[in-house]
Amino acid sequence: MRPFEYVRAGDAAAATAAVAAMPLARFLAGGTNLIDLMKEDVERPTRLVDIRNLPLREIQRTRSGLSIGALATNTETANHPLVRENYPLLTQAIVAGASGQLRNMATNGGNLLQRTRCNYFYDTAMPCNKREPGTGCGAREGLNKIHAILGWSESCVATYPGDMANALYALDASVRVRGADGRERAIAIQDFHRLPGDEPHRDNTLERGDLIVAIDLPVAAGELATHSHYLKVRDRTSYAFAMVSVAAGLRIEGGAIRQARVVLGSVSHKPWRSQEAENVLVGQAPSEQTFRQAADAALSQARPLAHNAYKVELGKRSVVRALMRAARLV
Ligand SMILES: Cc1cc2nc3c(=O)[nH]c(=O)nc-3n(C[C@H](O)[C@H](O)[C@H](O)COP(=O)(O)OP(=O)(O)OC[C@H]3O[C@@H](n4cnc5c(N)ncnc54)[C@H](O)[C@@H]3O)c2cc1C
Ligand code: SF4
Repeated sequence: MRPFEYVRAGDAAAATAAVAAMPLARFLAGGTNLIDLMKEDVERPTRLVDIRNLPLREIQRTRSGLSIGALATNTETANHPLVRENYPLLTQAIVAGASGQLRNMATNGGNLLQRTRCNYFYDTAMPCNKREPGTGCGAREGLNKIHAILGWSESCVATYPGDMANALYALDASVRVRGADGRERAIAIQDFHRLPGDEPHRDNTLERGDLIVAIDLPVAAGELATHSHYLKVRDRTSYAFAMVSVAAGLRIEGGAIRQARVVLGSVSHKPWRSQEAENVLVGQAPSEQTFRQAADAALSQARPLAHNAYKVELGKRSVVRALMRAARLV
């Protein structure tokens, strides 16, 4: 590990100022991703600003829904009665991730910002445009079994590996951010992560010094609570990242689907919300046949790489299974 300065921030203003002032400064939350990356020499921060003492841990009802503190741990969030009752999809997605010990340390802000698990990104002997812009992409013609089938570019074929964010996309969350100028703003979750384009080193739309303070969930997303399901398919049943995952939510009234959310994880550089699948579903009665049509629509734009064509069929089957469970047809 390289030498770095360690600062413990006393308040949000000091934290954002300390990060904004130095290009290679980073916030330190649970440290479960950042410290690993530092040990691998992938991240090389010159200053760590420890934010764990900031009062950003509350989970509370607001007039517009639920506010979840950026520093609440994944465990606290998944177990919170207001989350379990109104947004069970979020609880399911969080507990599908990592392990109990990791979820006790991992924070919601850090979880959103976890970096890709592309093996070439972790191997500093290999070219990687995300780690070192302009060096090339080792995975494009390499071993790309775990990589993207949607939204990738010639510069980068990595996936966003997290679980929690897939549910947040389905629930129309927004991310509340405090900028280095002290102002707060909300970023719709759909606009939070980026596709790689020709700037794969930029995972998201945050600016330097931006501190995530909370994640907000709207009241309306609670209407999906009765019919939602998070499905994660992986090589082993725990402590593994998804090959494909699906966050599905339905509002069913009078025997017909009035609202639908279908978000695929681990298939793209960001959680992939499929408007195409949702359009197929709305107005229809829930049935396996309709869900198959939605699955075909969701994967219709897929462009698999040399080693991950399996994700297209797996993705379709996962969409069908997740919707069947959400609709309580299995
Ligand atoms: C073995 C292993 C298995 C895992 N499996 C899964 C899995 O199956 N599914 C899954 O979803 N995740 C998985 N994870 C990832 C884990 O969920 C993340 O490491 C964790 O959520 C990151 O949170 P943290 O608080 O530790 O972040 P940190 O490591 O502290 O920070 C991560 C990044 O976020 C930034 N940051 C943190 N908080 C803020 C903030 N409030 N504002 C702005 N920037 C901030 C940091 O500067 C850093 O760049 C796994 C991790 C490990 C080590
Ligand atoms: S896929 Fe992205 S992260 Fe992986 S080697 Fe290519 S540029 Fe790097």
